[in-house]
Amino acid sequence: MRPRLTALLDRLWEQAVRTPQRFVVLSFAVASMLLVMLSVHGLGLLRDHEIQSLQQGQQLQVAGISSVLNVEAERLMSVRSFAQHLIRLQTGPHAIEPDPPLKAAYDHRNDDVWELPAPEGDAVLFGVSPATLASLEGFPRRDGDLLAGLYVARGLSHLISAEPVNPLVARRLMYVSNNGFFVAYPPVAPADAAATLRRVAAAGYIREHQPEANPDQSMRWSFGPAADGSDDVYLSLSVPVYLERQFRGVAITEISQHSMDAYLTRTTPEGVQRFLVDIDGNLVGASTRDVRRGEKLSAILPASWHEATPQEMFRRGSGTLRAADGSRIMFQRIGNSTLALVDYFSATDLLLRTASHLSAVLAASALALALLMWVTLQGIGKLFSHYQARGEALRELAETDALTGLTNRREFEARFGIEYEHCLRDKTPMSMLMIDIDRFKRINDNWGHASGDRVLRKLADVVRATVRAIDVPARVGGEEFAVLLPRTSLDEATQTAERLRKILGQTVCEPAADATGKGNIQFTVSIGVSDMGVDGTDNLDIMLQVADRRLYAAKAAGRNRVISDDRVPEPAPGSVPAPAGTS
Ligand code: GH3
Ligand code: MG
Ligand code: MG
Repeated sequence: MRPRLTALLDRLWEQAVRTPQRFVVLSFAVASMLLVMLSVHGLGLLRDHEIQSLQQGQQLQVAGISSVLNVEAERLMSVRSFAQHLIRLQTGPHAIEPDPPLKAAYDHRNDDVWELPAPEGDAVLFGVSPATLASLEGFPRRDGDLLAGLYVARGLSHLISAEPVNPLVARRLMYVSNNGFFVAYPPVAPADAAATLRRVAAAGYIREHQPEANPDQSMRWSFGPAADGSDDVYLSLSVPVYLERQFRGVAITEISQHSMDAYLTRTTPEGVQRFLVDIDGNLVGASTRDVRRGEKLSAILPASWHEATPQEMFRRGSGTLRAADGSRIMFQRIGNSTLALVDYFSATDLLLRTASHLSAVLAASALALALLMWVTLQGIGKLFSHYQARGEALRELAETDALTGLTNRREFEARFGIEYEHCLRDKTPMSMLMIDIDRFKRINDNWGHASGDRVLRKLADVVRATVRAIDVPARVGGEEFAVLLPRTSLDEATQTAERLRKILGQTVCEPAADATGKGNIQFTVSIGVSDMGVDGTDNLDIMLQVADRRLYAAKAAGRNRVISDDRVPEPAPGSVPAPAGTS
């Protein structure tokens, strides 16, 4: 196991050294992945925290709604107590005599719609004719106690005209007498008086609070069409008014559905859908839309929640439920009412809420990481190219001759190996020249060593400029040069050698500054030519030996000549070279 791991690490390290940029990118990719993993973990923690804070927000809202409803309920109770007190007073021995306005209203009691004006700002009392009442259930008009009833209603009108406790939650407060008149605030238009009573009857306020239906005279919640005749729906609280066991009327608070929706919309945090539901799952309000009558919570939530029963939520009081798709429901009952606040959020809502807290940190980290990667890549790129250049220089130093810049002997051998392979593979010929300066010693003697060096450099330049790019000129000895000519026959090589000999023979070299001799330097060369055997059996040593042998033959034949075979050459009369001398 251990050696395997070490081997793997070694391999990785080798790879890293060879391609450091890729290694850096890979390292940063790993770092980014770690960052992502950490972020995912952080998201989980933050999500739990977010849920907690959402729960706290919901508790706060529940407390708010609860207190609004409580205050409205208390107000309703005080309307009831005051009404009962006034009724008792008016039916007892201390009843107060009716005054002219009361009497005037009483005189109009058989009109289609009649009213008892109230002081500025107080709720106005409206009544309808016995004929209209006859068609409604629960309004037996008793003219005998009508005056006393009007007195009671007028007494209530100031209390009823109190503004709602929370201006965001619009509501209408009403006292409806079973004698067929009512006081409401905000006021109802006279033309709507009959319709209002009709709806009060239709909504069942009268029926539900009869002694048989509500023996303990308790407060009722209900949910239905508004009593003012608008299309609005309402949430209502109602409580009966009694004289002993005798039902006399009902006090009602109706909270407009629309205002409930608006209230929820204004107070619900973003990304949360908040609903007010009753125990049967009816929607009473929603933060996201105007609720229509008869809508059920289950119908507007995604399918995964269709099984969720509000009864279960009411039984538990408060809690959080999670569906398979990651969406959640958070619910809390409002006090002891039959209402509950339900918050719904999808998995995406929750993720977005949570991510919004993390996104700044994440973005900063990602940016820092990217910046760091860029800087590192720049650094590595610079370092790498620096060392590459150094390596290149070293290689050149190792492969070239310092004086002439030509390939040195060692590199020449290496290049020979490569070209040799090519020749064998492609079945092409290959030749070699061996060049030696004639009487070079004399140049050194006449002009000095430095000038001799200049001659060597000059020769190298000329050779380099004369041969092809694929040829390999090299300095293989003190003043001996070899040229490898790939894809070149012996004949072609001999022509090249001749050309070289001629050009070099015409080359003039300036002596060094400290030259002992006068005038420019001219020199000649002798060249031996060899080629690779047809069968490819020749190697470098053999080719060099043959070329060397022919070079010496050229020297022996009088110098300044090219020899490319092993016949004994005739020294041509008159071809004796002008040995190294001045021009
Ligand atoms: P030849 O070849 O015609 O027979 O006569 P030569 O005088 O050129 O004889 P040889 O080739 O044997 O001479 C080699 C001389 O080259 C000896 C040495 O002083 C000189 N030499 C070798 N290397 C260098 C060098 O790097 N710089 C200089 N200036 N001279 C060198
Ligand atoms: Mg020599
Ligand atoms: Mg020589």
